[in-house]
This record gives sequence, C-alpha cells and structure tokens, in this order.
Amino acid sequence: MFDVSVARCADYAPEAVTRALRAALEPLGGLDWVKPGMRVGIKANLVTFLKPERAATTHPTVLCALTQLLRERGAEVIVGDSPGGLYTAAYVNRVYAATGMKLVEQAGAALNRNFGERQASFAGARVARRFTYTAWLDDVDAIIDVCKLKSHGMMSMSAAVKNLFGVIPGTLKPEYHFQYPDERAFADMLIDLNEYFRPRLSIADAIVGMEGNGPTAGTPRTIGALLAAHTPYALDLACAEVIGLAMDDVPTLRAAHDRGLCPATAAELRVHGDLAAVRVEGFENILQRRGLRFQSAGVFGKAVERLLASKPGVDADECVGCGVCAKTCPAHAIAMRDRLPVIDRRACIRCFCCQEFCPKGAMTVRRPLAARLLNRSHGE
Ligand code: SF4
Ligand code: SF4
Repeated sequence: MFDVSVARCADYAPEAVTRALRAALEPLGGLDWVKPGMRVGIKANLVTFLKPERAATTHPTVLCALTQLLRERGAEVIVGDSPGGLYTAAYVNRVYAATGMKLVEQAGAALNRNFGERQASFAGARVARRFTYTAWLDDVDAIIDVCKLKSHGMMSMSAAVKNLFGVIPGTLKPEYHFQYPDERAFADMLIDLNEYFRPRLSIADAIVGMEGNGPTAGTPRTIGALLAAHTPYALDLACAEVIGLAMDDVPTLRAAHDRGLCPATAAELRVHGDLAAVRVEGFENILQRRGLRFQSAGVFGKAVERLLASKPGVDADECVGCGVCAKTCPAHAIAMRDRLPVIDRRACIRCFCCQEFCPKGAMTVRRPLAARLLNRSHGE
C-alpha cells in the first residue's frame, strides 16, 4: 500500500511547522525507526543561492523542525545538498548563507562540509549503472529527502524524486543532462538514483511552493501543506495531484509507475489527511503535456515531435547579458552575441538548465502554438 500523509500548515511560524510535521509523520509511524546515535542525513533542496522567501529551496524552518524531532530521538543530523554550480566549500557555503541554513545549524544540525565524491556501481539500475555521487551520503545511516514542491521546465514538477539529482556533484550535472538527453531517459536516471539511495522517508515542503517559471525563477504560491510518505514516488504522486498534474504529465511518475513503484492515480494512494483540501486551483504549471508522442510515425514522427517540443526562449527585456546560460548549457548550444544569448536549436537537447540557472528569470520555456492547440484538443 502506498501511504501518504498530508498536514495543513498556513505559514512558516516555527511552532505551526513543528506541529504539522508531527501530524504528517504520525500516521507513517513517526520517527520510531530512529535510534539514539544514528546519523541521519537530510537531503534538502538548496538548488542555488536564493533566499527562503523566493520558494526555490526547502525552507529552513521545516529543516529546523525535522532536526528537532530527530534530535529528540537521539540522532545526529547532517543537512546537505549539491546545488547547481561548483561543489566546493566556498560555493556551497554561499548557498548555505543565502538559503538560511544558519538557522538549521542553530537548531542542532551539522551542515555538510565533506565535498568529496565517490563512484557507484548499481547493477540494478535501468540506465545509471555507474555514476558519481557526493560522498557525504556515505557518512549517514539513513537519508530523509526533504524537497520543495515546484514547477520545473524539464520534468514538469520538482518534488522528492527530482530532489535526488542533488546527489550528483554540481559540476557534473550538465554531463548527466547530456548523457540522458530526453525526458524519459533522464527520468529513468532519476529513478535509479532514488532506488540506489532509498531515502527512508520523503517530505515535501508545500507550505509555499513555486509556480510559473520554476524551479528557480517562478512565483511563490501558498499551498499550505506538508506532505510525507515512505517513498518518493507516492509523495510525488500526491504532490502532482495538489498542483493539478496527472501521472502522465510528470516523466518521473510515468517512469516510476512503469517499474511498479507507484500507482497510476492519486486516488489509489492511501492518504492520511485531506489531500483534496490542499489542492490548488489554477496552479501555473509550465506545461502539462510537453511531448505529444508520434511513436508509430518513424522519422516523420520524430520530426513532428521536435517541431512540437517546448524550447527555451530569451526575454530580451529581462536579460542582463551575464552569460550564465551559455556557461551552464551542457550541449554548448548557446553563444553570446551583443550581450544576448543566441540558441542553436539543432544542438539544444531541451534540458532547460539555462532556464533553471538564469539569475534573472529571463530564460523561459516556450511551447509552440501548434503544440498548445494540439494539447487543448487532447483535453488540457
Ligand atoms: S543567464 Fe539569463 S540574464 Fe544571463 S545572459 Fe542568459 S538569459 Fe540573459
Ligand atoms: S540551450 Fe538550454 S535547454 Fe538547450 S541544451 Fe542548452 S541549457 Fe539545455
């Protein structure tokens, strides 16, 4: 049975968050599995140096509340992530400072300072049989995945499954985008990472989520909930339901379902709490059906798919010509001309790293008119 629990929480007032977290964990057996002396690693979403109120990162108050509950059980707590960019003490310390991690330290957690890397061989993987990961995860006895619920350019939604991409050192992330260029291969790689690390618990900070141009330049949107589950797949299916997405809208959910890791619909979850009550009407998702499939149509179908695919596009009025997009692009598909990015459409693999890391939100996901019309006729 796929259990998910949901607890209402109106804002980030510390007592309210702690109360909601206890309420969310209780139906799942609480933290009874945590034994004194256990080292628990909290894999937060600290994607980049943005303040908590921008809603791109896991809010420190949620991490503080979890730290407090884990310490009550006698655990040692380490909080970490590998943001996009350099995986060095100097870079990650900047991210810690911006994202409010000082508070988490004050609550008794240690922030990860081990910036080493390790190699994994995973015979059970579907695609990622060998990969490089952040070594701090070997320093802990159990991992708790504490994600932020956000819209996402490539994967439609960023929640628990996508959060595990942060086990890949930031500097290597573009390589993985290049290695797994289409959304299904990328989703399968993410499922492999989740299956390798098997978080003991997954929690979504959906008190304030992000809609629109996510996962870093979108708009904060109050959802008012904390969700928790034993598996990241069940949690993500519930999160998708909250923001109005179905399993087929989210490549990681489709990939998880195909492996028997989650049901097809949120109605098949065993929900503790009122999921319908936290469903957000009109949540602005980037896209709801990014690729219309023409599998039986061979080369022609591929060409049509490419024509209909969403693409990155620059808003010249917002662009400040910093060149971050060009530096981030794993396919080297962006050249800067007259301080404006020019995208080579044939080289672009549509990973949306440029959109994710543009500091001004000037890079957006554009869906061709034909795709929008077709999607509408498919029931969007
Ligand atoms: S990262 Fe954004 S602001 Fe910077 S050049 Fe690219 S589009 Fe412009
Ligand atoms: S242009 Fe943007 S979406 Fe295309 S490959 Fe480069 S980073 Fe990815």
